Amino acid sequence: MSNLFSYWEQKSFLSGFDVIIIGSGIVGLNAALHLKSGRPSLKIGVLESGFLPAGASTKNAGFACFGSISELINEMESRSESELLEMISMRWRGLKKLRNNLGDSAICFEQNGGYEVFKESEANQANLCIEKISWFNTFLKPVIGKHDIYADFGDKIAGFGMRGIRNIIKNKYEGQIDTGKMMKALLSKVQSLGVTVFNNCPVQNIEESSGNKIIHSSQGSFNSKSVILATNAFIKNLIPELDVIPGRGQVLITEPIKDLKIKGTFHYNKGYTYFRNIDDRILLGGGRDLDFIGEETTEPGVTVIIQNELEKLLYETLLPGQKPKIEYRWSGVMGFGKELKPIVKEVSPGLYCAVRCNGMGLAMGSLLGEQVADLIQI
Ligand SMILES: Cc1cc2nc3c(=O)[nH]c(=O)nc-3n(C[C@H](O)[C@H](O)[C@H](O)COP(=O)(O)OP(=O)(O)OC[C@H]3O[C@@H](n4cnc5c(N)ncnc54)[C@H](O)[C@@H]3O)c2cc1C
Repeated sequence: MSNLFSYWEQKSFLSGFDVIIIGSGIVGLNAALHLKSGRPSLKIGVLESGFLPAGASTKNAGFACFGSISELINEMESRSESELLEMISMRWRGLKKLRNNLGDSAICFEQNGGYEVFKESEANQANLCIEKISWFNTFLKPVIGKHDIYADFGDKIAGFGMRGIRNIIKNKYEGQIDTGKMMKALLSKVQSLGVTVFNNCPVQNIEESSGNKIIHSSQGSFNSKSVILATNAFIKNLIPELDVIPGRGQVLITEPIKDLKIKGTFHYNKGYTYFRNIDDRILLGGGRDLDFIGEETTEPGVTVIIQNELEKLLYETLLPGQKPKIEYRWSGVMGFGKELKPIVKEVSPGLYCAVRCNGMGLAMGSLLGEQVADLIQI
């Protein structure tokens, strides 16, 4: 580290690491949690570039979900059934771990159900999905362990107060969480076990020296026996050859709405658009399909084309006759790739990575963190 650090700082805070994890999102923190819970004597540090965790883990929509029917049909066009089933299994197992690790009350988990909505103009798509309900219930039974996952919710559409919706398919095993509370609980848990998290500490590169790793950051250099890269969409800055393409997601939240009827997690347009209730407000996000090229970026930002389309859906379909103010807008970046499977591997001796959750890392992140931690031999 820089010579300006005191003897005490260097001895107690900055040296002697067994494992350094880069990225304090859900994956990096779960890797830390798993390593430290299994081997309390390990000295573990987490280096995070942001003032807060600056990736997707504090920016997402908080859906504890594993797939809507139109999204799954869409995926099946380019994936094998077994690949898809494995991904759904990872999401389901990841969600169980998330809940077990932190507890439902700490993450405000609520199982209000998930709903896929189809507009009147989307009759063909809706009929195709409804016809497939029974097939998907059988297909998913081996991983979810239930046979009654999806059901036609047609007769109860009016209860949500939306306009122009023709069909709804309900998934009764879907839930929702408070993303901020989840990340706070996870951070407190790893810190209480003795993991040190360094913020404002972007890593620039990693070099090898006599079997050890030297991690160069804007704050100075750290030494460690092993390194885990959990930087998701930002991985190309450190390992350019990995197949991870950034995809920005934009979100808005309304002011509180009196007598809000929408309750649960809702999917629209093959999962590209989504909305839910949170604290009497509506969170609405997505629309990446409107501008795939523009949204292939790690830069934060919201755009007129996507925000206008989200607002149109909000005012015309979700809350007809009402015009609540939009109080929050933000973006976050996901990591996508040609394959659905995340990349969890040893990149070179002592250097590991766990990235590319394909937009489902809240669901599978706890599992991925454990998987990468289990690869480490020290
Ligand atoms: C708008 C939006 C909505 C979403 N909704 C859902 C949802 O409802 N359900 C769901 O399952 N998933 C959802 N996701 C996806 C989910 O949030 C991500 O898949 C998940 O958070 C990825 O976790 P991660 O730990 O791999 O990466 P991240 O949370 O992105 O963490 C990577 C961390 O690495 C840090 N970092 C990067 N480079 C460096 C560096 N060089 N040095 C130090 N630190 C670095 C970043 O600052 C960041 O904090 C959503 C994502 C977005 C953006």
